[in-house]
Formats: sequence, structure tokens, C-alpha cells
Amino acid sequence: MSDTIERIKCLIIGSGPAGYTAAIYASRADLKPVMYTGMEPGGQLTTTTEVDNFPGYPEGIDGPTMMMQLQQQAERFGTEVRIGMVTAVEFSKEIGGIHKVTVDNTTQIEAESIIISTGATAKYLGLESEQRLRGGGVSACAVCDGFFYKGQDVAIVGAGDTAAEEATYLANICSKVTMLVRKDYMRASKAMQHRVNNTSNIEVRYNTEVDEVLGEQVVDGLRMVNNQTGDKEDIAITGLFIAIGHKPNTDIFKGQLDMDDTGYLITEGKSTKTNVPGVFAAGDVQDKEYRQAVTAAGTGCMAALDAERYLATIESSVETA
Ligand SMILES: Cc1cc2nc3c(=O)[nH]c(=O)nc-3n(C[C@H](O)[C@H](O)[C@H](O)COP(=O)(O)OP(=O)(O)OC[C@H]3O[C@@H](n4cnc5c(N)ncnc54)[C@H](O)[C@@H]3O)c2cc1C
Repeated sequence: MSDTIERIKCLIIGSGPAGYTAAIYASRADLKPVMYTGMEPGGQLTTTTEVDNFPGYPEGIDGPTMMMQLQQQAERFGTEVRIGMVTAVEFSKEIGGIHKVTVDNTTQIEAESIIISTGATAKYLGLESEQRLRGGGVSACAVCDGFFYKGQDVAIVGAGDTAAEEATYLANICSKVTMLVRKDYMRASKAMQHRVNNTSNIEVRYNTEVDEVLGEQVVDGLRMVNNQTGDKEDIAITGLFIAIGHKPNTDIFKGQLDMDDTGYLITEGKSTKTNVPGVFAAGDVQDKEYRQAVTAAGTGCMAALDAERYLATIESSVETA
């Protein structure tokens, strides 16, 4: 049976900035990587129109174009990019062991090393108006998009540490930040609450939720609802930031790889090594702190170098045996 199963040196799961950077390095190191793109070829950046902070693009670039260029760069060195979703994995715990992967519930593939770059998915509220205006003023990334609202009034939804941090980040750029907190208290740490409460241009609205995002093509306001009284209020804003968390795309690795209590993969020290030899993790799937394209690309590079060194060690131990 194993005769018919394809065996490769390096499998890359996911096609965001981490996956493509890993692919560029792995293919230049002659690991002949095969990449499976998943349901969102190009990753999260394909959902945004403007990337202004990736080094090397002085005029900025739109997300889908940037990801297309990364794909072309990876293919130039021989990466084989395939459309497909990894649906199951069976990792070997042995050094030098062969990892088994199932694609689209049908195709089996075996790999000597694996780079996981499956990213994380931002959570949204699920309102029709919010989904319609994503990219038109609704964003899940204040660090990415806050700059576009310089000197303007914005709102942010969320009550955790990330929301509090993003609110203070926005307050430095925007004229006013209205922070909507669903409960009558914030989940953020006391220190973060203190920062929020001491920032003069942040107004926290407790017991308050989004009723509707206002605007046809772009956001021009927000209808808020007090969940205790039912009272509604409209405010004029140009940007709405959703900061209610991310879900790392790690369900298929449960029980096989070490993860933290929110599902992010745990890597060893400053490396991209997981707890399984030959399996590496890069990008947002192992990073709940920074979540930027450039940091994802940086760890993608590291994962390819880690994989290359791992394979070299295995090969030299086989040769000397
Ligand atoms: C709206 C928005 C705007 C942003 N703007 C910026 C910006 O301006 N600048 C910036 O630096 N960052 C920005 N970010 C953040 C940035 O997009 C992420 O930090 C970055 O994309 C993470 O890269 P990644 O490679 O780790 O994962 P992702 O980009 O999330 O890619 C994950 C990949 O894994 C694939 N995948 C998932 N599961 C499977 C599976 N089972 N099998 C195969 N493939 C799978 C997906 O299809 C996808 O291709 C933005 C994010 C959003 C949502």
C-alpha cells in the first residue's frame, strides 16, 4: 500500500505569509516543498485592500496582489502549490519518523518534515452590516488598519487585554475612541484597565453592544444598544474595530501537538520546533502576541531553516550508521 503513497521531504500546510516565506526558503534549500493552500489561498491578507506596513512596498500594496507575488516567488524556486485542505494528521513521535497526512479526506501523503502555517481566524460579531462593511471601515486589526483613521472618530468592540491594548493604540492616532463593553466590567487586566481609564480620548460604554454598523459602501456611523435598557444611540464614526479574539486553526492537531489553553501551538524557545520531531509551526498559528504579516513571514523563514537543519541531521545520522 505504501508504494502508492506519495512521500516528500517537506510539506507546508497553509498559504499565508508564513507558509509562502517558508516555501521560498525550503525550495531554495532544495527540500522540494509541497504546499497545500487550504480554504483561503493567500491567507488573511487576501481579505484586505491595503497593506501599508510590509517592508519593501513604499507605496503600499493590496493584500491579494502581495500574496500572488509571494506565491510566484515560491514557485520560481520550485515549490509545488496545491489546492487542498489537510483534514487529518498522524505524526510520528520518532526522530526521523514519517508523518502521515490526509488531504480533502481522500489523498494520503507522507512527509519527512512538516511546516504548519495554518494561521488564526479573527472572530466577528456576525451582524449582516458588519460583514458587508468589512474592508470598508470594519476591521479586526487595529495595528494594521488604525493608521487609515488618523484624526477620526472610531469605535472598538471588546473587553479583554487585546481590546484594551488596541483601544489605547487607536487613541494615539484617532481623535476619539468609543469602547463597547458587553458586560458591566472589563475582562482586561487591572493594569490595562488603568491605561484605558486614564486615556482621555477613550470613552468606555458598559452594557453596550453593536446593534448595526451604519453606512452603504463605507462606515459612517454606529448604532449602539444598551443591553440592560434596550435604549439605542447612534454615533458618527468612520472605523469600527472588532477585538473579540482569534481562533487558531489547530483543530486537526488536537491530541497530537502541544497547544496552550486557547489552542495556539507551542514552540520550543526561540525556535519553531513543536513537541514532535520534524514538525514545525510558523505564523499566527503559534503567535497570539504580534499577529502581523512580517512576523509571520519571519517565523516562516525560521521554520524552513529549522526543517532543513532537522533533515540534514537525520541524513547525516543515517550515513554514519
Ligand atoms: C482584515 C485584516 C487586515 C490585515 N492587515 C494587515 C496589515 O496591513 N499588515 C500586517 O502585517 N498584517 C495584517 N493583518 C494580519 C495578517 O494578515 C496576519 O498576521 C498574517 O496573514 C498571518 O499569516 P499566516 O501565514 O500565519 O496565516 P494566514 O494568513 O492566516 O494563513 C493561513 C493559511 O492556512 C490555510 N489553512 C488553514 N487551515 C488549513 C488546513 N487544514 N489545510 C491547509 N491549509 C490550511 C489557510 O487557507 C490560509 O492559507 C491583517 C489581518 C486581517 C484579518
